[in-house]
Formats: sequence, structure tokens, C-alpha cells
Amino acid sequence: MREQAVAEYREAYRQEEIPANYRGLVHLCFTFASGIAVVIYSAWQLDQVQAAQWLTIPITLVYANLAEYLGHRFVMHRPVPGLGLLYKRPSGQHHRFFSHQHMELDGIRDLKVVLFPPVLMVFFVLAFALPVGIALSRLFAENVGFLFVATAVAYFLNYEILHLAYHLPGDSWLGRRGLVSRLRALHTSHHDPRLMSNWNFNITYPVSDLLFRTFRGSAASRADPPAASTY
Ligand SMILES: [Zn+2]
Ligand SMILES: [Zn+2]
Repeated sequence: MREQAVAEYREAYRQEEIPANYRGLVHLCFTFASGIAVVIYSAWQLDQVQAAQWLTIPITLVYANLAEYLGHRFVMHRPVPGLGLLYKRPSGQHHRFFSHQHMELDGIRDLKVVLFPPVLMVFFVLAFALPVGIALSRLFAENVGFLFVATAVAYFLNYEILHLAYHLPGDSWLGRRGLVSRLRALHTSHHDPRLMSNWNFNITYPVSDLLFRTFRGSAASRADPPAASTY
């Protein structure tokens, strides 16, 4: 029954939400070409980085992991006034399109429901990465600002690669990598409607899930009785 509901939703989503002129490959290329360009440009601006300035990279990685977690847990899984677009897309659409039993996309046009929309990607860079980078440049040094932007955008690209890998066929080359297949199992359990509101909110590495005790191993997900759904 659940499978049928997913299949029906997929058909409706494709008809209503994917424009005829949508090209998955163009979406994919835009995401990675523009992201890689920002990373290379920022790295190019670095000049005689001092030892302490390199600390920007691990600090940014922790910050990004926390932002990924908090945004997913408290914004995308809850309707927040003014943030309807964020809520509607990931929670309402992405989770209905992919269930834990039906995680694979059917074709390249389904990238629409996996990758961030280009407009949101540009918004995040302009509204978050750039202002913070400029502030860090003023507060500390230009190197710190550029290291922050390069690391934050690289983290985002890593997020997109991993999330895409989770929704590719399980036997894909990327999906079979040891670490990717373990992370995929965690995200698969997050796609279980009975678990998605409470567990495994990190899409990349479950650092914040471990910190906030919302980490749930995939074996535990299968064995335990279902939790009440708030979805
Ligand atoms: Zn979710
Ligand atoms: Zn997903």
C-alpha cells in the first residue's frame, strides 16, 4: 500500500512540479560547476596562510555540520512561518517521493527532488556564506574569510554528492563505497515515516546526531517497533 502511495506521488510530482524544459544534467552541472568555481576562486585568494588561520577549516566543518543538522531538524521538519518553501520542499515533497523502501530515483529528471534548487543555492551563498566570509575577513584576516567560504561551499558540494549517492540505485559505484553505503543506511532509516521526525537528521556525517543523541543505527531502526509519526 505504502509502495503504491509512493508510486502515485511520484507520478503526480513529475507532472506538477517538474517543468517540461527541466534538464537534470544541467541542474547537476550548475550545482557543481558554480560550487567548484567558488571554492577555486576562494582558494586562489589565499596568501601566506598562517598556522592558526588553517583552524578555520575544522571550525567551519563543525559549524556546517551543526547548521545542516539544526536546519533539517528544526526548519525542514517543522513548518516555520516565512520558511514555507524550505518546509514544503524537503519534508513534504522529498520524503513523500522517497520512502525507506523506495529510495532510488527512476531517472535523471528525478534529480529535481534530490538536489537543492539553484535559486536556493544562490540564496544560501549570498545570504549566509558571503556575509559571514566578509565579516570574518574584517574581524580576523582575509585568509580566514576565504577559507570559510571555500570550506562551507565544499561542504555543501559534499552534502549534494552524498545525498545523491543515497538516492542512486544501491548497486551504483558511488553507493557501494564502504563509508557511503553506511551513511546511506542511516539516511534510509531517516526516510522511514515512523522515524523521520526524530532520528538521523544529519545528511552527511552524523556528528551532530551523536551530539544531540538523535543518532540511530540502521540495524536498530529495523529491529525496534515503530515510533509514533508526526509527519
Ligand atoms: Zn528529513
Ligand atoms: Zn533523502
